[in-house]
Amino acid sequence: MAQEHKDILKQPPPKTPPWRTSRRIGIHTSTAGGVASAAERAYRLGCSAFQIFSSSPRQWAPYQLSGPQCQAMNSLRAKYDLKPLVIHANYLVNLAGGNPEFHRKSIASFRGEIERGLALCADYLVLHPGSFRGMSWEQGLAKVAASLVEATEGYDLRRGGLTILIENTAGAEFSLGGSFEQVAALVGVLRDYVPIAACIDTCHTHVAGYDIVSEKGYEQTLTHLGATVGLKNVPVWHCNDAKAARGSHLDRHQHIGQGTIGLEPFRRLLNDPRLAHCAFIAETPIDNPGDDLRNVEALKSLVEDGKPRSARKREKTRS
Ligand SMILES: [Zn+2]
Ligand SMILES: [Zn+2]
Repeated sequence: MAQEHKDILKQPPPKTPPWRTSRRIGIHTSTAGGVASAAERAYRLGCSAFQIFSSSPRQWAPYQLSGPQCQAMNSLRAKYDLKPLVIHANYLVNLAGGNPEFHRKSIASFRGEIERGLALCADYLVLHPGSFRGMSWEQGLAKVAASLVEATEGYDLRRGGLTILIENTAGAEFSLGGSFEQVAALVGVLRDYVPIAACIDTCHTHVAGYDIVSEKGYEQTLTHLGATVGLKNVPVWHCNDAKAARGSHLDRHQHIGQGTIGLEPFRRLLNDPRLAHCAFIAETPIDNPGDDLRNVEALKSLVEDGKPRSARKREKTRS
């Protein structure tokens, strides 16, 4: 990927620390040049939280982290107060099904994710629950649960402070997690075995058919989420606008405020007192240099607590 010219690490470091909000806000950040470089990037982008892949997201190849890299990550996180660190699991992992060979690879790959998550002292590991093609969703659910228990065997996640987050999905055919009920069922089944909670993605929620755009719809959707998954069981939100229409089941992320969701729902979300415990992390595209910084700033600008004057001025001159 020709991302070199877009990389904030190639630019001079900020002279003063970037402004922050009372809400923990971050973005999925590149680990190019070593895993710890993501923490430096997140800081320079003005984040107070961040997400990474701990290995190549679309490859099976096992990946070992070296001790010094982990130490560097930890000291940078402490220096810049970056919390939480969220790891997004490899996209190939499907704990719900696939042929036996693929399923075995998925479990092995997820074990690697857990090992690296613990080594990096990550707080959360986000998992897409997978596809249950060829069985009922109840069978898929049981298979994910059994696979997760197998993948975590021998690791003490509780002691390591690592919680697995089941992410809701766009609700495409056979994909588990398209409804809050399915996410809640997975969290409920797994609670006895591993530290588990949920990550709710705004784009996935919207294209799965839930209304978060109208004020009334947002209220109903949050009430529904509270009654199923439970708001206290959602420590992380993925903040992505959507390219596709509500109910389309098409998962295409868009820049904050420029898609079919728009700015207002994000303002509601970020200022909702029921979600004060959450971190909000963008997984928006980088179409042009600086898009990552712009999306972080877009989210931070919506938080209605003492935005610094310099930031307000910057916004005006930018447009
Ligand atoms: Zn997501
Ligand atoms: Zn997505």
